[in-house]
Amino acid sequence: MLAFAPMSDTLLTIDCDYVQPALACAYLRVSGDECAFIETNTTHAVPRLLAALAAQGRTPADVRYVIVTHVHLDHAGGASALMDACPNATLLAHPRAARHLIDPTKLVAGATAVYGAAHFAELYGTIRGVDASRVRALDDGAEVPFGGGLLRFLHTRGHANHHFVVHDPAVDAVFTGDAFGLVYPRLQRAGLMAFPSTSPTDFDGPAAHASIDRIVALGVGRACLTHFGEQTRLPEIADQLHAWLTLSEALMAQSRERPAAEREAFIEGRLAAAFDEAVARSGLALSADDRTLVAFDRKLNAQGLAFAAGKAPA
Ligand SMILES: [Zn+2]
Repeated sequence: MLAFAPMSDTLLTIDCDYVQPALACAYLRVSGDECAFIETNTTHAVPRLLAALAAQGRTPADVRYVIVTHVHLDHAGGASALMDACPNATLLAHPRAARHLIDPTKLVAGATAVYGAAHFAELYGTIRGVDASRVRALDDGAEVPFGGGLLRFLHTRGHANHHFVVHDPAVDAVFTGDAFGLVYPRLQRAGLMAFPSTSPTDFDGPAAHASIDRIVALGVGRACLTHFGEQTRLPEIADQLHAWLTLSEALMAQSRERPAAEREAFIEGRLAAAFDEAVARSGLALSADDRTLVAFDRKLNAQGLAFAAGKAPA
């Protein structure tokens, strides 16, 4: 055995096949003897995550960290099941997210109210609380040792108030959750097509712009998005996201002139028109499935903007 084995660093993208392929992913990092998962997707994805670990010749006992960028259930829904499977892991989360991972009652009740119990189970499976002794809340700028290096955590509001991103210098990457938009592989056929997620209930435009700038300012070579995969064109993605956010803020302001009940439909219509223009400019030919995917996010985005319009001062 070598006395000084070189420290090897691996970064693996795992397609969680959430709703459809290439929609949501999680990441496995291996550094020397240690492993970490970033994002957990849902309970249903946990066997996939563990299979990816085994394919790297590692066992659940090697997992030092399970990390979730925020508690939206396509990111953190599998956290309790993954923590059950990984006996030595610590769950790393934003301080405002940690309490919901320890006691998910409100989280589960909120999603069950939206989807109904049967559909909730189908989407997310069973979510339990994680023992508080295994959860570590990380302040802005916190660093934790991992393998031969460290991971650094930056609070990034805008999409959610309890969101952080993970800077991982050893692989020249930042894991961005939903703070650096959505770049679906299926929409990249005619050039870059990125747009933000402004889903309910925390959207904050100025904070979202600032978070994007903070991510670009890290100067890393790749952003690892949950939706979806490794991206290397950070400045171009940032340009598109800023433009969509500026439009979204304008639509929010305009929607306040209207009755609350009409705001979402107004915003959704304007977003649809702007998206069609962007698609026409790029020359992208959208399939019916592409349109379904985009329409789903657009509805959520319009809901989030209408909600934010209602709570912000007119
Ligand atoms: Zn989210």
